[in-house]
Amino acid sequence: MSTTARSQDLFARAQRVTPGGVNSPVRAFQAVGGTPRFIHSAKGAILTDVDGNEYVDMIGSWGPMILGHAHPQVLDAVQRAAARGFSFGTPGENEVVLAEEIVARVAPVEQVRLVNSGTEATMSAIRLARGFTGRSKIVKFAGCYHGHVDALLAAAGSGLATFALPDSPGVTGAESGDTIVVDYNDQDALRAVFAEHGPQIAAVITEACPGNMGIVPPLDGFTQLIRRLTREAGALMISDEVMTGFRVSDTGWYGYESARDGYPDGPADLFTFGKVMGGGFPAAAFGGRADVMGHLAPAGPVYQAGTLSGNPVATAAGIETLRLTRETDVYTHLEAAADRLRPEISAALSAAGVAHTIQSAGSMFSVFFTRGTDGRVRNYEDARGQDSAAYSAFFTSMLESGVHLPPSAFEVWFLSLAHTPEVLDRVVEALPKAARAAAAAQGSAASATADRGGLA
Ligand SMILES: *Cc1c(COP(=O)(O)O)cnc(C)c1O
Repeated sequence: MSTTARSQDLFARAQRVTPGGVNSPVRAFQAVGGTPRFIHSAKGAILTDVDGNEYVDMIGSWGPMILGHAHPQVLDAVQRAAARGFSFGTPGENEVVLAEEIVARVAPVEQVRLVNSGTEATMSAIRLARGFTGRSKIVKFAGCYHGHVDALLAAAGSGLATFALPDSPGVTGAESGDTIVVDYNDQDALRAVFAEHGPQIAAVITEACPGNMGIVPPLDGFTQLIRRLTREAGALMISDEVMTGFRVSDTGWYGYESARDGYPDGPADLFTFGKVMGGGFPAAAFGGRADVMGHLAPAGPVYQAGTLSGNPVATAAGIETLRLTRETDVYTHLEAAADRLRPEISAALSAAGVAHTIQSAGSMFSVFFTRGTDGRVRNYEDARGQDSAAYSAFFTSMLESGVHLPPSAFEVWFLSLAHTPEVLDRVVEALPKAARAAAAAQGSAASATADRGGLA
């Protein structure tokens, strides 16, 4: 077996100076066991760690690297931008170009504000919704992740439609107490919440298509019901497209679903974006109806700001990445790659007798190590029925075969333009052995610590 000595050494050093040795919890491998690989470089679909081991990358930085790593044209755009200066603290042309691109792609988005992370985007969208409506309550869905915003680190209390409890120490009851957590895809529960609290609800925030508990698509009519109920109650609908935006289609989930089902009651009022639109750099955005966005400072009274917001280098990466998604027809490529992998994964797991369900949002898919309810994972409770020991064994075998899956069973497998048929062959070849490892581990008590699915 290949050595991981340098990763182990770095992880030991990291743990001395950084809590848990990482700067975002899922990276620590707690859900799968073992030592996280410290990456030295990445090119196309391949990660190379500090010990010189190569892996097919199925994380893609959790979504941004849709063109593959260090795409030459994006690299060139970044280098040219950096040569002109790193940050000005005054306006620049790139900010206008990136905003225009988002507004041109996503029809309901008339104005955007650029920020640095998806967390900032959802946090600011919620503040804006509260400022616009003059109301305080926010509805979110269990298992949907919107970054580590205090008000959204909330877990459902017991019983239907109770007010949320803090989901992390450090979040106060006051911060989570205006949040109502509802099971995803539960139409009756959502109706009940609006019947009881409608006039106090500022907004419902939802992942456009949930991907942070694994992919759990909205069942027929669910998105449309959110829209109808918010409109009737005078509340806003916030569609969080940080993960899906510009990844499932060039207009994100909005374009994907509206082309398929239509939105008879109209689109969301506000949208949040991140990941792909930053091309691997810290850039994110929130936007939507001009009359709502007009409440944002300095046009209006709702405060929001950022020293590095609209950073010239980050926006250069985003602009070039978005431009290339069109030029390369990346969405067709990704869907073909997903169409190749999904049946291979399913066949390998079935042959080994491993219970699983694969669910998709366009080319984004996730492999649940559970059959769900009647073969379908509809909500967080279904997703949490996963066999984490089986996933851990599967993940570890794939890693040893040179395929770096997400180190949590609750995450999406991300593809890129650089995932060519030859790269996918390497994934397919590793599957049978990993499936047998998963079968052997099935049902055994997970050695890994509890996986807080979705909390990246
Ligand atoms: C990743 C993600 C976020 C948070 O974005 P960060 O840049 O990590 O703060 C918010 N919402 C969704 C749907 C995400 O997938």
